Amino acid sequence: MKISNLKLHSVAIADPPLRSSYGLHAPWALRTIVELETDDGIKGVSETYGGDAPRAALEAMREFVIGRDPFQLAGLYQQVCGKSAGGRDVPGGRSQTWLVPGENPLDQHNRTFAALEIACLDIIGKAVSQPVCDVIGGRVRDAVPFSAYLFYKHAGGGGEGQYADEYGEVLTPEATVRECRQMVKQYGFREIKLKGGVLEPAVEIATIQALRAEFGKDYPLRIDPNCAWSVDTSVKVGEALHEELSAGGYLEDPCPEIEGMSEVRKRLLAKGIHTPLASNVAVTQMADVPRARDLDAVQIVLSDPHYWGGMRQVQYLSHLCEVLGMGLSMHSNSHLGVSMLAMTHVAAACPNLTFACDTHYPWQTEKDEIVEGGRIRFENGTVRIPDKPGLGVTLDYDQLARGRERYEKITLRKRDDEAEMRKHVDPNWKRILPRW
Ligand SMILES: [Mg+2]
Repeated sequence: MKISNLKLHSVAIADPPLRSSYGLHAPWALRTIVELETDDGIKGVSETYGGDAPRAALEAMREFVIGRDPFQLAGLYQQVCGKSAGGRDVPGGRSQTWLVPGENPLDQHNRTFAALEIACLDIIGKAVSQPVCDVIGGRVRDAVPFSAYLFYKHAGGGGEGQYADEYGEVLTPEATVRECRQMVKQYGFREIKLKGGVLEPAVEIATIQALRAEFGKDYPLRIDPNCAWSVDTSVKVGEALHEELSAGGYLEDPCPEIEGMSEVRKRLLAKGIHTPLASNVAVTQMADVPRARDLDAVQIVLSDPHYWGGMRQVQYLSHLCEVLGMGLSMHSNSHLGVSMLAMTHVAAACPNLTFACDTHYPWQTEKDEIVEGGRIRFENGTVRIPDKPGLGVTLDYDQLARGRERYEKITLRKRDDEAEMRKHVDPNWKRILPRW
């Protein structure tokens, strides 16, 4: 079997005005849908980051992809990632001041490979009539739990005014509880994540306390300010939310850098607080993991098949974390149904992934979904592995064409939350780390 065609579809999907320490989400999120076809007519699909740069990086791999046997993934990895697989020989380093979520320049090749690998695994699953999770080693769960991913937000439903605003403005603890109630009622989530780093830490502490008061101890809580706090503030928040975050929850990327998180951990432990620290900013690749562990900076690594180099790399990460005595959870970005299923399959095949995964899926709408049958359904906060070969999704080509049309109509080609913040909220806004 040989890959005979690579198709890339750039799409735009409505995204509500969600806030984070990076700034404000634009009215549109960009995604790239990757289609591979084989000479015997099997189609594999995947979904990845959108805009010009990820598309160009995939386009540049065309010569390595066409004519390749989709089963030969290690060779493809070697070709796409080469010596940079560990990330050590890519110039530029990382600058946390301008990166947007899920973007570390050192991970560029891993992101490109991931999009190709997932489409190849979809082909392999279809070729052997097995779901992808069973192709990559077998599932340890049939349904994967996801968390309610709460954001502070401005009023608006995304797009350019033509999308319904399901949640309204959410800029207070009371409004966040309302948002959570709505999301839990609709999807059945049993774990809750708050994207913080937006309002004064005292307000965010009050938000977590209000969520605990409303939902009780059976709903583990996590907060992720994306490095907006200093070490001192991180320790203060960790102390204030000691009880709320310790039972099955975590404190995610409170401050910048592995060294900062190590200091936070040390100071919290000295106060008898064992709340685990999680990261998808200080730790974004395998080479970061041993150091994060040696410095006791991170106890839970946040995987994501889109930037960790695909599903098999996430499985290696799962095993590495298990060996090192670390936990594993999953990060997400704005996404559609193909990514939803890719995340579900890999989470089903990682024994060590014992937290509910993040997903932005509730923030996207039926109107923009590009898989046949519409939105992926949740049952009691979980997504079930479809009883179908491969990822279990088929593209709806009419919907895909609408997504491409939206993309062509807009000028946005790279996510820039800081620019959106200046445009809509504060003309002088800058991302400052730490802000508090
Ligand atoms: Mg995060």
